Amino acid sequence: MSIAGLSQHLYRVSQRAVWLHGARRVSTTTTGIMSTHTNAKRIEGLDHNIWVALTGLAADPSVVNLGQGFPDLPPPSYITAALAKAVSVDRMNQYTRSFGHPALVNALSQVYGKVCERPIDPLKEVLVTVGGYGSLFCTMQALVEEGDEVIIIEPYFDCYIPMVKMAGATPVLISLKLKSEKQSGLTSADWVLDPEELASKFTSRTKAIIINTPNNPTGKIFTRDELQMISDLCIKHDALCFSDEVYEWLTYKGHQHIKIATLPGMWERTITIGSAGKTFSVTGWKLGWSIGPEHLVKHLQTVMQNTIYTCSTPLQEAVAQGLVRDYERLGQPDCYFSSLAAELEEKRDRMAAILREAGMNPILPEGGYFIIVDVTPLNVDLSHMPDEAYDLKFVKWMIKEKKLAAIPVTAFCGEASRSRFEKYIRLCFIKRDETLDAAEDIIRNWKN
Ligand code: PMP
Ligand code: GLN
Repeated sequence: MSIAGLSQHLYRVSQRAVWLHGARRVSTTTTGIMSTHTNAKRIEGLDHNIWVALTGLAADPSVVNLGQGFPDLPPPSYITAALAKAVSVDRMNQYTRSFGHPALVNALSQVYGKVCERPIDPLKEVLVTVGGYGSLFCTMQALVEEGDEVIIIEPYFDCYIPMVKMAGATPVLISLKLKSEKQSGLTSADWVLDPEELASKFTSRTKAIIINTPNNPTGKIFTRDELQMISDLCIKHDALCFSDEVYEWLTYKGHQHIKIATLPGMWERTITIGSAGKTFSVTGWKLGWSIGPEHLVKHLQTVMQNTIYTCSTPLQEAVAQGLVRDYERLGQPDCYFSSLAAELEEKRDRMAAILREAGMNPILPEGGYFIIVDVTPLNVDLSHMPDEAYDLKFVKWMIKEKKLAAIPVTAFCGEASRSRFEKYIRLCFIKRDETLDAAEDIIRNWKN
């Protein structure tokens, strides 16, 4: 066996050992010598990830991918042109300010200053990081302690749980529940929190609650009354609020996104998280931000300066220019924030109609770019598959047999809530008409 062949063989053996032994890792060094390492406690049990598991399956070009949330529509041309221009300037290819490129933090302070109707200090109240993920991570590492509890609303964006755990804290879950027994005609507004149950989740150990509005995966937009109820509890228990608003501009007719940070007494205790990937349909750019009061953001800045240090300069420059461009058009139809939402509303309605025609019950989202649907009317018998949540089996089966990818909703909830959510799958509709046509063909010809 050649040296290359041997090292490949050793690599395969070690990978098999990793698969078999789980947390107690056996790995090869570059010299091929086996050594044993134990993972750090803080990542215990966090090795499974739905995106890593399913994006591989959906990567087959014959699969119509309505799974992972990313647009296959082109981003606005002014933002890609701004990036091309930025990289042509020598100094833009070098490091920029750690906590955010000056042009970008200024643009963010302008936009959010207007939305929040308060001045936002670009240097002290804004942190630019690696995507919404980086913003969430800096927030948790900076503000959540070992022994703390963090309240998370199910279904939740999946990374909240591992991030809370990596900070040494305990996630405390509460489920949204459907307020209506009806099967059809539901909207994401039908998912509600029980106020008494929510109140019961706050204890002396509660450090924070994480909210996500518009919500991934349901599309729910929290109403002012719901946000007020959450605010009252945060204030009563002196808890923080981490408000993930990466889909803030994607709201559909009749629904308004409200920032919890603008409610009385909340600015001081809220970190609001945003994403350039979602704002400008450039998920691969991985830029995000946290906005909040100086006494909180300064701790996030400490995490940033000691971990990632700074984000890509040309990307930040381009996003800054995009924000300035759309800030000048806020409220007008040619503002990308409004034009994208209008375009998506048609796609949402089309997707809902396709699903209804096939006899399913979609829950119409008020915002965001996902729709969840109860697939049980399709009566797909998956009892032959290994025992897992029905939606996960359904998605694996659908990718293989129907060449259509989606995400199981139980990926966004804890084990105890599996029975509440396992009949739903999530479909992403920020897709070109041709992609939706292909999905429609598959769903129409389901029985064939
Ligand atoms: N929060 C939510 C609710 C999301 O859906 C995502 C996925 N984009 C993120 C945060 C992470 O955002 P980013 O891709 O900018 O890291
Ligand atoms: N936020 C996107 C989604 O919910 C992508 C997440 C990811 O790929 N990690 O689909």
